[in-house]
Amino acid sequence: MNANLYALLRDHFAEDAEQPCLLIPGGPVIHYDDLDATSARIANALSAAGCRPGDRVAVQTEKCWQSLALYLACLRAGLVYLPLNTGYQKSELEYFFADAEPTVIVCQPDAAESTAALRPQSTVLTLDGAAGTLLDRAADQRDSFEPISSMPDDLATIVYTSGTTGRSKGAMLSHRNLASNALTLVEQWGFTRGDVLLHALPVYHVHGLFVACHCALLSGSRMLWLPKFDAAEVIGLLPHATVMMGVPTFYTRLLADPSFDANVCRSMRLFVSGSAPLLPETFESFRARTGHAVLERYGMTETGMNTANPLAGERIPGSVGLPLPGVSVRIVDGDARACGPETVGAIEVKGPNVFGGYWRMPEKMREEFTADGYFKTGDMGEWLPNGYMKIVGRAKDLIITGGLNVYPAEIEEKINALPGVVESAVIGVPDPDFGEAVTAVVVIRPGDALNESELISVLKADIASFKVPKRVHMVADLPRNAMGKVQKNVLRAMYSSK
Ligand code: AMP
Repeated sequence: MNANLYALLRDHFAEDAEQPCLLIPGGPVIHYDDLDATSARIANALSAAGCRPGDRVAVQTEKCWQSLALYLACLRAGLVYLPLNTGYQKSELEYFFADAEPTVIVCQPDAAESTAALRPQSTVLTLDGAAGTLLDRAADQRDSFEPISSMPDDLATIVYTSGTTGRSKGAMLSHRNLASNALTLVEQWGFTRGDVLLHALPVYHVHGLFVACHCALLSGSRMLWLPKFDAAEVIGLLPHATVMMGVPTFYTRLLADPSFDANVCRSMRLFVSGSAPLLPETFESFRARTGHAVLERYGMTETGMNTANPLAGERIPGSVGLPLPGVSVRIVDGDARACGPETVGAIEVKGPNVFGGYWRMPEKMREEFTADGYFKTGDMGEWLPNGYMKIVGRAKDLIITGGLNVYPAEIEEKINALPGVVESAVIGVPDPDFGEAVTAVVVIRPGDALNESELISVLKADIASFKVPKRVHMVADLPRNAMGKVQKNVLRAMYSSK
């Protein structure tokens, strides 16, 4: 059997080939057979440009329906798709191109010249329909392309991690990795042909490209395809959707709009959140406003999705739910022993979803996998007594102050619960006395007057004094990346000398 992911996707949408696939507000309706034909043409054009199975195709373009067709073209032609964040600049791109050695680079028209100068060894193309571009070349090609016969472990994509510590690493994901996770999620989240997924996530990240698109394509459902998240636009479109996947910021932005209410969500059956922690307050406010309990799940570039709250059953705020079927998740202490409930340890995962290693970094394989094949996620977590998992933060964010461990999430939870606090981030900054000093960066609701000394004295009455922040900085907002993750590395750099 052909393990090519495109063959699997096409098997599921083929019988409905004339059905709409992408609904583009203010733009065309793209049917499944349009997507199939366009991706076939692109696959033929890439082959004509000299790409052979296993070659890398690096892509840094704005989100459009043709960028999805390009991804599918790479799958079916056995090419390794390499999505790049649209925010990456020259020095970052230089590293990715030198590391991945793509045969073809597809970029934005205004970057064509600089990209060609950066990487003369690659064929540089732009996507859009002007003369000589990839879509122009594709227009002359045949609209059929039989998916290349792939083995399950053949490489489908390399996705570079965000690299907040050290060099970014290229996570190698196979056809099996992507397919197993997609099949599990379609089943777990009850996707059917009747669904309309509101898609406002970027497609250079696993959340938007794999989790969201695969669920829709594998179930033959439709996607409302938005170039980006805009709260007012999303509120206007939600009455036409049944499912939305988002990062926590989507949910806080929707709640910030007074017109967002249960009526807006009348046709929705499911809201999913991930990529960063969804604050319990956001979960509760969302439920109070709409009647919907957001389904929070946990995953990462290297593994796809690992755990999720259930579709039927209790969704617990502040928890990422239960291990997905087929995925083994364990939490271990410093001696690699399994932790009991309510004991923080390192999260490790194993399963068909887990990547095969980092591109051209075999030594990392030994460092980041255990002898029995579990991937060390770098996240810290604990089991709740009912078997659900709670994420406590990244191991590298753990603060060691005076030799004692402080888990930022515990302190952030306490601070967030104080009246007037919108959100907070707790970091460790170098300190001559303690090694690291606990420091809080706090967003206060406008008009509220909570100050540093009040906050510290309230916390002192509640938690051990070594956990209480030595300094509290009040800010208007926290720095976040496009996936809604608080950039603690930025905060550490900002507050280290203060
Ligand atoms: P990425 O590889 O960019 O998808 O980032 C993966 C990381 O995001 C994980 O290792 C976690 O640290 C974090 N993450 C993803 N989902 C959640 C979640 N639901 N709650 C808390 N952290 C999350």
